Amino acid sequence: MNKKTLTSKGIIDSHCDTVHYFTGEMGEYDFLNTNNLAQLDLPRMEAAGLKVQFFALYIEPEYKPAKALNRSIQLLDAFYRTVEPCYERLEVIHSYNDLLRVNNQGKIAAVLTVEGGEALEGEIAVLRMLFRLGIRVLGLTWNQRNEIADGVGERQTGGGLTRFGKKVIKEMNSLGMIIDLAHIAEKGFFDVLMLSNTPVIISHANARKICNHHRNITDQQLRALKENGGVVGLTLYPPFIHEKTPNLEMLLNHFEHIAEVAGINHLGIGTDFDGMEGKTLEGIYDVSSLHLLVEGLRSRGFKESDLNKILFENFLRVIKEIM
Ligand SMILES: [Zn+2]
Repeated sequence: MNKKTLTSKGIIDSHCDTVHYFTGEMGEYDFLNTNNLAQLDLPRMEAAGLKVQFFALYIEPEYKPAKALNRSIQLLDAFYRTVEPCYERLEVIHSYNDLLRVNNQGKIAAVLTVEGGEALEGEIAVLRMLFRLGIRVLGLTWNQRNEIADGVGERQTGGGLTRFGKKVIKEMNSLGMIIDLAHIAEKGFFDVLMLSNTPVIISHANARKICNHHRNITDQQLRALKENGGVVGLTLYPPFIHEKTPNLEMLLNHFEHIAEVAGINHLGIGTDFDGMEGKTLEGIYDVSSLHLLVEGLRSRGFKESDLNKILFENFLRVIKEIM
Protein backbone atom coordinates (compact mmCIF):
# COMPACT_ATOMS: atom_id res chain seq x y z
CA MET A 1 0.00 0.00 0.00
CA ASN A 2 1.08 3.54 -0.73
CA LYS A 3 1.86 5.13 2.63
CA LYS A 4 0.81 8.54 1.31
CA THR A 5 -2.80 7.42 1.25
CA LEU A 6 -2.81 7.02 5.03
CA THR A 7 -3.11 9.86 7.47
CA SER A 8 -0.47 10.69 10.06
CA LYS A 9 -2.54 9.54 13.05
CA GLY A 10 -4.04 6.29 11.81
CA ILE A 11 -7.63 5.15 12.23
CA ILE A 12 -10.13 4.56 15.02
CA ASP A 13 -13.03 2.35 13.88
CA SER A 14 -15.99 2.49 16.27
CA HIS A 15 -17.75 -0.67 15.06
CA CYS A 16 -17.13 -4.14 13.69
CA ASP A 17 -18.92 -7.45 14.13
CA THR A 18 -15.90 -9.70 13.64
CA VAL A 19 -16.21 -11.37 17.06
CA HIS A 20 -18.73 -13.78 15.54
CA TYR A 21 -15.90 -15.27 13.52
CA PHE A 22 -13.92 -15.71 16.74
CA THR A 23 -16.51 -18.23 17.98
CA GLY A 24 -15.71 -20.62 15.14
CA GLU A 25 -19.44 -20.84 14.36
CA MET A 26 -18.96 -19.13 10.99
CA GLY A 27 -16.28 -21.48 9.71
CA GLU A 28 -12.52 -21.79 9.86
CA TYR A 29 -11.25 -18.35 10.83
CA ASP A 30 -7.80 -17.41 12.04
CA PHE A 31 -7.46 -13.85 13.35
CA LEU A 32 -3.67 -14.03 13.12
CA ASN A 33 -3.61 -14.74 9.40
CA THR A 34 -5.05 -13.04 6.35
CA ASN A 35 -8.20 -14.87 5.33
CA ASN A 36 -11.04 -14.62 2.86
CA LEU A 37 -13.85 -15.39 5.24
CA ALA A 38 -14.12 -12.11 7.14
CA GLN A 39 -13.42 -8.46 6.35
CA LEU A 40 -11.08 -8.01 9.29
CA ASP A 41 -8.07 -9.84 10.70
CA LEU A 42 -4.89 -8.76 12.44
CA PRO A 43 -2.52 -8.56 9.43
CA ARG A 44 -5.02 -6.52 7.38
CA MET A 45 -5.80 -4.20 10.32
CA GLU A 46 -2.10 -3.50 10.78
CA ALA A 47 -1.61 -2.86 7.07
CA ALA A 48 -4.57 -0.48 7.00
CA GLY A 49 -3.17 1.69 9.80
CA LEU A 50 -5.90 0.85 12.32
CA LYS A 51 -4.88 2.09 15.76
CA VAL A 52 -8.06 1.53 17.74
CA GLN A 53 -10.77 -1.01 16.94
CA PHE A 54 -14.08 -1.27 18.77
CA PHE A 55 -15.19 -4.92 18.84
CA ALA A 56 -18.94 -5.36 19.30
CA LEU A 57 -20.49 -8.32 21.07
CA TYR A 58 -23.70 -8.45 19.06
CA ILE A 59 -26.41 -10.60 20.58
CA GLU A 60 -28.44 -12.34 17.89
CA PRO A 61 -32.25 -12.16 18.22
CA GLU A 62 -32.57 -15.89 18.95
CA TYR A 63 -30.75 -15.34 22.26
CA LYS A 64 -33.12 -12.61 23.41
CA PRO A 65 -34.28 -12.08 25.98
CA ALA A 66 -33.66 -15.21 28.06
CA LYS A 67 -30.09 -16.03 27.01
CA ALA A 68 -28.76 -12.55 26.21
CA LEU A 69 -26.27 -12.40 29.06
CA ASN A 70 -25.19 -15.99 28.49
CA ARG A 71 -24.57 -15.22 24.81
CA SER A 72 -22.57 -12.07 25.59
CA ILE A 73 -20.34 -14.10 27.92
CA GLN A 74 -19.83 -16.73 25.19
CA LEU A 75 -18.79 -13.99 22.75
CA LEU A 76 -16.54 -12.37 25.34
CA ASP A 77 -14.88 -15.73 25.98
CA ALA A 78 -14.33 -16.25 22.24
CA PHE A 79 -12.89 -12.74 22.03
CA TYR A 80 -10.35 -13.18 24.84
CA ARG A 81 -9.35 -16.66 23.68
CA THR A 82 -8.68 -15.23 20.22
CA VAL A 83 -6.78 -12.08 21.13
CA GLU A 84 -4.77 -13.25 24.13
CA PRO A 85 -2.22 -15.12 22.00
CA CYS A 86 -1.46 -11.89 20.12
CA TYR A 87 -1.14 -9.41 22.97
CA GLU A 88 2.20 -8.26 21.64
CA ARG A 89 0.30 -6.89 18.60
CA LEU A 90 -3.18 -6.06 19.92
CA GLU A 91 -4.31 -5.33 23.45
CA VAL A 92 -7.66 -4.69 25.12
CA ILE A 93 -7.69 -1.27 26.72
CA HIS A 94 -9.57 -0.11 29.81
CA SER A 95 -8.61 3.54 29.89
CA TYR A 96 -7.35 6.44 27.81
CA ASN A 97 -3.90 5.96 29.34
CA ASP A 98 -3.96 2.30 28.23
CA LEU A 99 -4.74 3.49 24.72
CA LEU A 100 -1.75 5.84 24.65
CA ARG A 101 0.58 3.19 26.03
CA VAL A 102 -0.62 0.47 23.65
CA ASN A 103 -0.44 2.72 20.59
CA ASN A 104 2.99 4.00 21.64
CA GLN A 105 4.16 0.40 21.77
CA GLY A 106 3.06 0.09 18.15
CA LYS A 107 0.09 -2.14 18.98
CA ILE A 108 -3.59 -1.91 18.11
CA ALA A 109 -5.90 -0.97 20.99
CA ALA A 110 -9.13 -2.98 21.23
CA VAL A 111 -12.23 -1.51 22.89
CA LEU A 112 -14.96 -3.96 23.94
CA THR A 113 -18.57 -3.07 23.23
CA VAL A 114 -21.81 -4.83 24.07
CA GLU A 115 -24.37 -4.19 21.34
CA GLY A 116 -27.74 -4.43 23.04
CA GLY A 117 -28.74 -3.69 26.64
CA GLU A 118 -30.57 -7.05 26.78
CA ALA A 119 -27.27 -8.36 28.13
CA LEU A 120 -27.96 -6.63 31.44
CA GLU A 121 -31.20 -8.59 31.89
CA GLY A 122 -32.54 -5.65 33.88
CA GLU A 123 -29.77 -5.65 36.51
CA ILE A 124 -27.40 -2.76 37.21
CA ALA A 125 -25.10 -5.27 38.94
CA VAL A 126 -24.57 -6.98 35.56
CA LEU A 127 -23.51 -3.65 34.03
CA ARG A 128 -20.89 -3.22 36.76
CA MET A 129 -19.62 -6.78 36.29
CA LEU A 130 -19.41 -6.38 32.50
CA PHE A 131 -17.32 -3.28 33.16
CA ARG A 132 -14.98 -5.40 35.30
CA LEU A 133 -14.72 -7.90 32.45
CA GLY A 134 -13.42 -5.14 30.21
CA ILE A 135 -16.55 -3.78 28.52
CA ARG A 136 -16.22 -0.02 28.04
CA VAL A 137 -19.08 0.74 25.61
CA LEU A 138 -22.75 -0.27 25.74
CA GLY A 139 -25.11 0.08 22.80
CA LEU A 140 -28.29 0.68 24.78
CA THR A 141 -30.56 -1.11 22.32
CA TRP A 142 -30.52 -3.02 19.10
CA ASN A 143 -33.61 -2.60 16.91
CA GLN A 144 -36.06 -4.10 19.39
CA ARG A 145 -37.49 -2.78 22.66
CA ASN A 146 -35.62 -3.82 25.79
CA GLU A 147 -35.53 -2.98 29.52
CA ILE A 148 -33.62 0.24 28.79
CA ALA A 149 -35.44 1.81 25.84
CA ASP A 150 -37.04 1.21 22.45
CA GLY A 151 -34.88 0.44 19.45
CA VAL A 152 -35.59 2.00 16.05
CA GLY A 153 -37.81 -0.98 15.18
CA GLU A 154 -40.34 0.30 17.75
CA ARG A 155 -39.95 3.99 16.99
CA GLN A 156 -43.61 4.43 16.04
CA THR A 157 -44.59 3.92 19.69
CA GLY A 158 -42.68 7.04 20.72
CA GLY A 159 -41.12 5.18 23.66
CA GLY A 160 -38.02 6.63 25.31
CA LEU A 161 -35.79 5.70 28.24
CA THR A 162 -37.41 3.59 30.95
CA ARG A 163 -36.79 4.15 34.65
CA PHE A 164 -34.24 1.33 34.49
CA GLY A 165 -32.71 2.99 31.43
CA LYS A 166 -32.19 6.17 33.42
CA LYS A 167 -30.37 4.20 36.13
CA VAL A 168 -28.18 2.66 33.42
CA ILE A 169 -27.19 6.09 32.10
CA LYS A 170 -26.32 7.34 35.59
CA GLU A 171 -24.27 4.22 36.33
CA MET A 172 -22.46 4.40 32.97
CA ASN A 173 -21.63 8.04 33.67
CA SER A 174 -20.20 7.17 37.06
CA LEU A 175 -18.28 4.08 35.86
CA GLY A 176 -16.79 5.92 32.88
CA MET A 177 -18.49 3.91 30.14
CA ILE A 178 -19.26 5.20 26.66
CA ILE A 179 -22.95 5.33 25.72
CA ASP A 180 -23.63 4.17 22.17
CA LEU A 181 -26.89 5.42 20.64
CA ALA A 182 -26.78 3.55 17.32
CA HIS A 183 -30.09 1.63 16.99
CA ILE A 184 -32.04 3.59 19.65
CA ALA A 185 -35.38 5.20 18.71
CA GLU A 186 -35.43 9.00 18.54
CA LYS A 187 -37.28 9.62 21.79
CA GLY A 188 -34.70 7.62 23.75
CA PHE A 189 -31.90 9.36 21.88
CA PHE A 190 -33.02 12.76 23.13
CA ASP A 191 -33.80 11.41 26.62
CA VAL A 192 -30.20 10.22 26.93
CA LEU A 193 -28.79 13.55 25.77
CA MET A 194 -30.88 15.31 28.42
CA LEU A 195 -29.64 13.01 31.16
CA SER A 196 -26.05 12.07 30.39
CA ASN A 197 -23.26 14.25 31.69
CA THR A 198 -20.82 12.85 29.12
CA PRO A 199 -20.65 12.92 25.32
CA VAL A 200 -22.26 9.97 23.53
CA ILE A 201 -21.34 8.09 20.39
CA ILE A 202 -23.38 6.72 17.54
CA SER A 203 -21.03 3.92 16.57
CA HIS A 204 -22.43 3.11 13.13
CA ALA A 205 -25.01 5.20 11.23
CA ASN A 206 -25.25 7.74 8.43
CA ALA A 207 -27.34 10.82 7.62
CA ARG A 208 -31.10 10.42 7.17
CA LYS A 209 -31.13 13.45 4.86
CA ILE A 210 -29.03 11.59 2.28
CA CYS A 211 -30.48 8.12 2.80
CA ASN A 212 -33.93 7.82 4.34
CA HIS A 213 -33.35 4.70 6.42
CA HIS A 214 -34.68 4.55 9.99
CA ARG A 215 -31.23 3.56 11.29
CA ASN A 216 -29.77 6.84 10.00
CA ILE A 217 -29.86 10.02 12.06
CA THR A 218 -31.80 13.18 11.36
CA ASP A 219 -30.40 16.69 11.14
CA GLN A 220 -32.11 17.45 14.46
CA GLN A 221 -30.22 14.56 16.05
CA LEU A 222 -26.99 15.77 14.45
CA ARG A 223 -27.42 19.24 15.91
CA ALA A 224 -28.10 17.71 19.34
CA LEU A 225 -25.00 15.52 18.98
CA LYS A 226 -22.93 18.61 18.28
CA GLU A 227 -24.31 20.28 21.40
CA ASN A 228 -23.48 17.13 23.41
CA GLY A 229 -19.91 16.95 22.09
CA GLY A 230 -20.35 13.40 20.78
CA VAL A 231 -19.28 11.65 17.60
CA VAL A 232 -21.03 9.61 14.92
CA GLY A 233 -19.08 6.86 13.15
CA LEU A 234 -20.15 6.79 9.52
CA THR A 235 -20.72 3.32 8.20
CA LEU A 236 -19.96 1.46 4.98
CA TYR A 237 -23.10 -0.70 5.17
CA PRO A 238 -24.71 -0.12 1.75
CA PRO A 239 -28.40 0.06 2.85
CA PHE A 240 -27.47 3.05 5.06
CA ILE A 241 -25.64 4.81 2.20
CA HIS A 242 -28.27 4.98 -0.52
CA GLU A 243 -31.43 3.17 -1.57
CA LYS A 244 -30.37 2.84 -5.21
CA THR A 245 -26.71 3.76 -5.61
CA PRO A 246 -24.77 2.91 -2.46
CA ASN A 247 -21.28 3.76 -3.70
CA LEU A 248 -18.24 5.57 -2.29
CA GLU A 249 -19.24 8.92 -3.81
CA MET A 250 -22.61 8.69 -2.09
CA LEU A 251 -20.90 7.82 1.21
CA LEU A 252 -18.74 10.92 0.79
CA ASN A 253 -21.96 12.94 0.49
CA HIS A 254 -22.87 11.73 4.00
CA PHE A 255 -19.52 12.95 5.32
CA GLU A 256 -20.02 16.35 3.70
CA HIS A 257 -23.58 16.66 4.96
CA ILE A 258 -22.71 15.74 8.54
CA ALA A 259 -19.67 18.03 8.50
CA GLU A 260 -22.03 20.82 7.43
CA VAL A 261 -24.77 20.15 9.99
CA ALA A 262 -22.82 18.90 13.03
CA GLY A 263 -19.33 20.14 12.21
CA ILE A 264 -16.02 18.45 11.54
CA ASN A 265 -15.47 17.70 15.25
CA HIS A 266 -18.34 15.21 15.42
CA LEU A 267 -17.53 12.88 12.54
CA GLY A 268 -15.81 9.54 12.72
CA ILE A 269 -15.93 6.14 11.08
CA GLY A 270 -17.67 2.98 12.28
CA THR A 271 -17.24 0.58 9.38
CA ASP A 272 -19.59 -2.25 10.44
CA PHE A 273 -17.15 -4.72 8.87
CA ASP A 274 -18.38 -8.29 9.26
CA GLY A 275 -21.86 -7.04 10.11
CA MET A 276 -22.96 -6.43 6.52
CA GLU A 277 -24.56 -9.77 5.68
CA GLY A 278 -22.52 -9.96 2.50
CA LYS A 279 -23.70 -6.54 1.24
CA THR A 280 -20.27 -4.94 1.02
CA LEU A 281 -19.70 -1.50 -0.43
CA GLU A 282 -18.37 -1.75 -3.96
CA GLY A 283 -14.63 -1.08 -3.99
CA ILE A 284 -14.21 -1.21 -0.22
CA TYR A 285 -14.49 -4.91 0.35
CA ASP A 286 -12.49 -5.08 3.55
CA VAL A 287 -10.33 -3.16 5.98
CA SER A 288 -7.38 -3.10 3.58
CA SER A 289 -9.36 -0.85 1.18
CA LEU A 290 -9.97 1.91 3.75
CA HIS A 291 -7.31 4.06 2.09
CA LEU A 292 -9.83 4.54 -0.75
CA LEU A 293 -12.17 6.24 1.70
CA VAL A 294 -9.29 8.46 2.87
CA GLU A 295 -8.47 9.39 -0.73
CA GLY A 296 -12.15 10.06 -1.39
CA LEU A 297 -12.31 12.47 1.55
CA ARG A 298 -9.22 14.26 0.23
CA SER A 299 -10.86 14.53 -3.19
CA ARG A 300 -13.80 16.33 -1.53
CA GLY A 301 -11.46 18.95 -0.11
CA PHE A 302 -11.11 17.72 3.46
CA LYS A 303 -7.74 18.99 4.75
CA GLU A 304 -5.18 16.75 6.47
CA SER A 305 -6.15 18.24 9.83
CA ASP A 306 -9.81 17.41 9.09
CA LEU A 307 -8.89 13.85 8.13
CA ASN A 308 -7.00 13.38 11.37
CA LYS A 309 -10.09 14.52 13.28
CA ILE A 310 -12.48 12.28 11.33
CA LEU A 311 -10.31 9.19 11.38
CA PHE A 312 -8.78 9.50 14.82
CA GLU A 313 -8.95 12.56 17.03
CA ASN A 314 -12.70 12.95 17.44
CA PHE A 315 -13.22 9.50 18.92
CA LEU A 316 -9.98 9.92 20.88
CA ARG A 317 -11.44 13.05 22.49
CA VAL A 318 -14.52 11.14 23.67
CA ILE A 319 -12.42 8.22 24.94
CA LYS A 320 -10.18 10.66 26.82
CA GLU A 321 -13.11 12.46 28.40
CA ILE A 322 -14.92 9.30 29.52
CA MET A 323 -12.31 6.57 30.04
ZN1 LIG B 1 -25.50 -2.63 14.63
